[in-house]
Amino acid sequence: MLGRWTAAVAVAMAVGAPSTGGAQESGRDRPLQTPAERLGFQAFTPPEDVFPYLTALAESSGGLEVDTLVVLNAGADARVPIPVVRIPVASAIGESPAIRVLVLGSQHGTERAGLEVGLLLIRDLVDGELGHLRRTLDVRVIPMTNPLGVDRRTRGAAGGVDLNRDHVALAAAETRAIWAEVDEWRPHLVLDLHELGPTEYTVQVGVPTHPNVDPDLATFARFYMLPQVANQLARADIWFHEYVAVWEDEDDEVEAYYTPAPLEAANARNAFALAGAASFLVETASSRDVLGLAQRTEQMYVATRAFLEAAVLLAVELERVSGQASALAADPLSIEARYAADASGTELPWVKLNERGLRVRTRLRPWRAVVEVAARLEPPEGWMIDATGAELVDVLAAHGFRVERLNASATRTVQAYPVCPEATGDSALARPEKRTFPAGSWWIPADQLGARLLFTIVEPWSVDGWFADRVDDECARDPYPVYRVPA
Ligand SMILES: [Zn+2]
Repeated sequence: MLGRWTAAVAVAMAVGAPSTGGAQESGRDRPLQTPAERLGFQAFTPPEDVFPYLTALAESSGGLEVDTLVVLNAGADARVPIPVVRIPVASAIGESPAIRVLVLGSQHGTERAGLEVGLLLIRDLVDGELGHLRRTLDVRVIPMTNPLGVDRRTRGAAGGVDLNRDHVALAAAETRAIWAEVDEWRPHLVLDLHELGPTEYTVQVGVPTHPNVDPDLATFARFYMLPQVANQLARADIWFHEYVAVWEDEDDEVEAYYTPAPLEAANARNAFALAGAASFLVETASSRDVLGLAQRTEQMYVATRAFLEAAVLLAVELERVSGQASALAADPLSIEARYAADASGTELPWVKLNERGLRVRTRLRPWRAVVEVAARLEPPEGWMIDATGAELVDVLAAHGFRVERLNASATRTVQAYPVCPEATGDSALARPEKRTFPAGSWWIPADQLGARLLFTIVEPWSVDGWFADRVDDECARDPYPVYRVPA
């Protein structure tokens, strides 16, 4: 089945731009339609048509670079490329900084409105009504981050990896490739496009929620950027809410309660924010066809365009807050946090739609929006990692973090992390003592770009860090290969 990919690319290269009817003969007064547009949104853009479309657009419009982010090994000789489109800032005006915006479509293969919006966005930036935004914005779009999931109609990528839960472990080639691009380019704004099941709210936007995100960046995202988007959606008569997840007790649905988006660093929205970008989850209803593809695409397009316009409007502030957010924190950071009941008593109205699109009444429930930090640690000067931590070091390097390998053995004063202590936090650390690390060990300085993400991943007690899933229930495991060098 995947043989189609190669064939489709070859055909498009040879033929050039697909026909757009009479418009082409009259000197192209109409932008090149995306494959789904040509089909009247009666069907999705077939995944194998994405590269040919982008190539044709590059030939007809210029102003964009179509590149391969990475080529996936899909077995049986199948090689599947992930396209990335780079649309450089057209010409900077005045003192306004160029704002770098990364748009990710269809991390989840079954949520394809993101792919359609990605293609429309690219087209309209280079050859349509969004062209004026390019005077401020430097945009990169990965419209189909999960081509295998799109092709196979699965949420996950090859091997079932959920890409939007993989931004700590980087187990998938797809997420590794995204981080290579992010590390090289350091976007100020990241938009991650998804769809969700039937809900009352047709567009939901998730803001960064991880407690280690720079507070000024979190405030900027929720209270400066998001209202701009909400206003545009209201103007377009699109029913909007900040993203809320439902958490249900497995045995008793009555105990269901609602929270803002999950706190985990592994979600793209949080991971990119920890690295310093204002980043948002953009969800449109619904992946279960309650709304048609044209509607879902249109609603998500309005939301995404509103973000781009907000980025232009708030360019100076966005650049400042993003730069500050990528630096090391001065204060202790969280290693464990959870949502708690909101003392203000805020209740969240939530009405679900069933698969036939009919309302199913649910009660008002408290919106547990308060994040309680249960344990903290001071940021150290850095971490020593011994040879048994090679796998972690590989992941840190894939995120773009600076890792320094020792050429000769070195003795440092370090603190160890007891495995499974009764409580975690500064007081639970072992007393500082001299320890000699052989050549081949690593030094990871804490003071580097994206330090808040680095801290969250590398700290052994971090509940959503790299070790979180690697400690067994009985805590019968070897000591952590990580030692902290106190500041
Ligand atoms: Zn999703």
